[in-house]
Amino acid sequence: MFILKKFRTKSKYYIYDSNTNNIIDVAKEIYENLEFLLKKNRAKDFCEPNYKIILSAINEGVLGAVNDLKMEYPFSDEEYLEKLKDSIQQLVLCTTENCNLRCKYCVYSGGYQVGRVHTFRHMSFATMKSAIYFYYKHSSNEKMHTISFYGGEPLLNIERIKKATAYANTLFKTVNFIISTNGILLGNDFIKWFVENNNVMIIVSLDSPKEVHDTYRIDKNGNATYEKIIKNISNIPSGVLKKRVRFQSVYANDDDLEKMIQYYNINNHIIPMSLTSVEKDSASSEILHVIKHSDLNVKAARKKYKKMLQEYINKRPNSEENIYKDIFDNNFRSIHFRSMDKIGSMKLFSGICIPFVRKLFIDIDGNIAPCEKADYLNNFGNIKNGFDVSKIKELLSVINEIKNKRCRKCRA
Ligand code: SF4
Repeated sequence: MFILKKFRTKSKYYIYDSNTNNIIDVAKEIYENLEFLLKKNRAKDFCEPNYKIILSAINEGVLGAVNDLKMEYPFSDEEYLEKLKDSIQQLVLCTTENCNLRCKYCVYSGGYQVGRVHTFRHMSFATMKSAIYFYYKHSSNEKMHTISFYGGEPLLNIERIKKATAYANTLFKTVNFIISTNGILLGNDFIKWFVENNNVMIIVSLDSPKEVHDTYRIDKNGNATYEKIIKNISNIPSGVLKKRVRFQSVYANDDDLEKMIQYYNINNHIIPMSLTSVEKDSASSEILHVIKHSDLNVKAARKKYKKMLQEYINKRPNSEENIYKDIFDNNFRSIHFRSMDKIGSMKLFSGICIPFVRKLFIDIDGNIAPCEKADYLNNFGNIKNGFDVSKIKELLSVINEIKNKRCRKCRA
């Protein structure tokens, strides 16, 4: 089995070999006849100089066939269990299931086949405290500790969050806090506390510009929310805003992506952290009606992406904070620094999240889930009795099975 991808520019021809992560610059003739050349006994029919390039690539281990390829986690079961004991990197707490907004695409709107819906329940301080202690006990191998407060809208439960941060500060040598908020409750009291606690960062959801944001992010009465958020943000001292406030946007419509990028490019004080498309897996027809995504119009989306990429290549600003960094830089970096080791018959999962280790999500009742995006998978133990190891092992083997079924032949 060859896992290859041919691609070309205006004047050059390339083959990407997934087995070794090599990119080979080839002649047009080879590019056009690659499949034919790789078939046994046929290459000799071709003119020798071109074939030699392929032959030497094969001799060097590039363009080799990959047989019986298996994919695996880069650690054994025992090593994984060790990580669970002392190497959890981040704790995410569902501080409340309540929210003061009713965004049209919200995963908690009831418009998805899986997951919870909005309720009025808050996490108690006792649960927060136990969860933080659980994380403390299971992260002794980590130098940096991060605790994220998630919702619903976490600021609806801010007094307990303040107490929880004070408690965590007494436990950990170094700990950082992240509060994900919709920005509506960023009042003076909160801002005062936030400014005073410099290990707290906030991430504000903003689907800017205004006309895009107000199309989707509305309150319970259907009112627009953009102006309120911008007014609140303007009360945060500029130094703190620059250092400890980031914005995340989701686009429900591909046509909005360009507008969002332009907005971030013009409004330099609003520093983006991520820009992602709205979740549509398991979405109901009502939600799908709200979102307009690329698989409905792949060609148009590709055209837009290409245009943005060209813009990025032409005048890539140096600023670390530029929106392009999120969209393109990380992709380029991962290509540039890719491992050149040969896969052989074993491919380790790359870039895959290690469940419960990279993030540990605790729901409102203290149950353990892999992360906030899979908060409904909350039967992997709890903070009182610890991890349910057999269930976790089951989950890993399911991931393994899916990866081997679906991803084995993928060149990425
Ligand atoms: S702010 Fe977040 S939790 Fe609240 S409705 Fe909007 S998307 Fe849902």
